[in-house]
Amino acid sequence: MSIQVFGIQVSRGVAIGRAVLVASSRVDVAHYYIAAADVPQEIERLRLARNAVADELEVLKADMPPEAPHELAALLDVHLMLLHDETVIAATKNWVRDRHYNAEWALSAQLEVLARQFDEMEDPYLRERKADVEQVVERMLRELTQIAPGVPTTPAAGAVPPASGNGGAGPGQAAGVASAAAPVWRGAVVATPAAARDFAGEDPLVLVAADVSPADMLQFKRSVFTGFVTDVGGRTSHTAIVARSMDIPAVVGAREASRLIRQDDWVVIDGDTGVVVVNPPPIVLEEYRFRQRQSELERARLARLRNTPAVTLDGHVVELLANIELPGDADTALAAGAMGVGLFRTEFLFMNRGGALPDEDEQYEAYREAVQAMRGLPVTIRTVDVGADKPLERAGAAEARHDHGLNPALGLRAIRWSLAEPGMFRQQLRAILRAAAHGPVQVLVPMVAHFGEIHAIQEAIARARQQLGDAGKAQGSVTVGAMIEVPAAAVVISRFLRHFDFVSVGTNDLIQYTLAIDRADEAVSHLYDPWHPAVLALLQQVIAAAATAGKPVSVCGEMAGDATFTELLLSFGLRSFSMHPSCIAEVKQRVLRTDTRQLTELQRIALDADAPEAATRTVRGKLRQ
Ligand code: PEP
Ligand code: MG
Repeated sequence: MSIQVFGIQVSRGVAIGRAVLVASSRVDVAHYYIAAADVPQEIERLRLARNAVADELEVLKADMPPEAPHELAALLDVHLMLLHDETVIAATKNWVRDRHYNAEWALSAQLEVLARQFDEMEDPYLRERKADVEQVVERMLRELTQIAPGVPTTPAAGAVPPASGNGGAGPGQAAGVASAAAPVWRGAVVATPAAARDFAGEDPLVLVAADVSPADMLQFKRSVFTGFVTDVGGRTSHTAIVARSMDIPAVVGAREASRLIRQDDWVVIDGDTGVVVVNPPPIVLEEYRFRQRQSELERARLARLRNTPAVTLDGHVVELLANIELPGDADTALAAGAMGVGLFRTEFLFMNRGGALPDEDEQYEAYREAVQAMRGLPVTIRTVDVGADKPLERAGAAEARHDHGLNPALGLRAIRWSLAEPGMFRQQLRAILRAAAHGPVQVLVPMVAHFGEIHAIQEAIARARQQLGDAGKAQGSVTVGAMIEVPAAAVVISRFLRHFDFVSVGTNDLIQYTLAIDRADEAVSHLYDPWHPAVLALLQQVIAAAATAGKPVSVCGEMAGDATFTELLLSFGLRSFSMHPSCIAEVKQRVLRTDTRQLTELQRIALDADAPEAATRTVRGKLRQ
């Protein structure tokens, strides 16, 4: 049966593929395809894992003291019974045999199927048995980590998923994204380049999950997923931001998606409208395929602008920069024609490391890699911005909220966290200063709101410099800027500007904090409004104050990469935009078609109207003709 689920559009385009349901807690389970020849070995791994768990449970049962509650022994019996149940084991083997999933992926895929069946049971007693199946599967997954795959640690070249055996003709498009670097096994469906080539013509895959943390999302960057859907999240949640940087169609905040979509269903993700169509009828599928082709043609057309300088019709040169998450993204930035990196979100280097933070040398290597990859173009390295929906440990936004204080977005986040960890902060600053010896670097500090913080930042930089000098290590000069993302900083911008070389407006947070809307909360996402007059007034004020002070100003929030806002930001006097590399071409096209002398009316209406989006629509439409 075909159904539709509605969510929030994150990145454009249409993805069509088979659903891979991943439970948030099992995102770190290895997912990869095995070669046909390795199926027997993989099934053997399952058998060994099952036997090991059965032995473990038998020992537990035998060692049970007589005074232990009777229910405990009964529970172990249930688990033993499940271990031998065909719906668990035989069906799991089928995923290995028919779809060539590795054992861990097959087990978690089958668990999702069973969990759904339990959820639908009327009888509460039976419904609760879901927890037992989960526990048994968890034990087996743990056991599997001890049993090395029979295949080499990388799948054999040419390992291919078999043709679909579950009905429904595939859309026949390439699954496409290959990891050029060493494969990341944990948590992502990955492919060696050789294997990826062989995916061509096979069913593409889309990821469906209740919640995925930003760090986990990053792992999917090198995966073969062609789209993704999550139940939670807002348009500018960090999970959505990482998804957008992957440049694949995505929908977040689709609430019931992971409950309504089943493992292996055909799913259309419409990243333009936020609609997810499950098992579409052929005529609907055909329409989406048509749209998919159209958007690919449009992208190819825009890609031709790569080497064209971004200059308005009346001769204003506009700097289009890239936002990156990892040093390796610098290549994508260059390929998209970025004139530098306007925002390197370094916190992604700090996540999911089991509490061990990267040391100075490791950070230095990462920053140096980005600086050298940009070949003399400036790289703006933001000091770590953890907290809120970017916890250091693995957790989804909902868990993070629960684990990290009452309201983590208002808590120990970004520069507040860095100043609370002065040793760590200086370590990062030393690594950045060392990387600056290899090319132009700007240091950007997130979430500055207090004058006391400014002095603490200056002191930390001075000490880091001195420590490097004492250690005889090479360092380069840097300029230091503040992110303007707390309304307090925007209100006193002229005074802030006295202390910094440049500022960059983080509109994602500026909107969140101005409107008191948690950017990661889909329940209030309809109120997250970049067009709110207060937001526009603050933006205009910051850009104008920077011009008066003669200091560079950039916007690096999602507004900068949304071509809907290009003319308006130009009308405010903005000449530097930083965005996902995939947005550069479209924004550039807008810049090339704009004559800033014709923007007076647009700016006036935008700043005067109660509802600027509606009020400026006609003017914006005319400008685009
Ligand atoms: C912002 O807040 O606009 C920004 C660019 O930073 P982040 O999205 O990482 O919070
Ligand atoms: Mg921010």
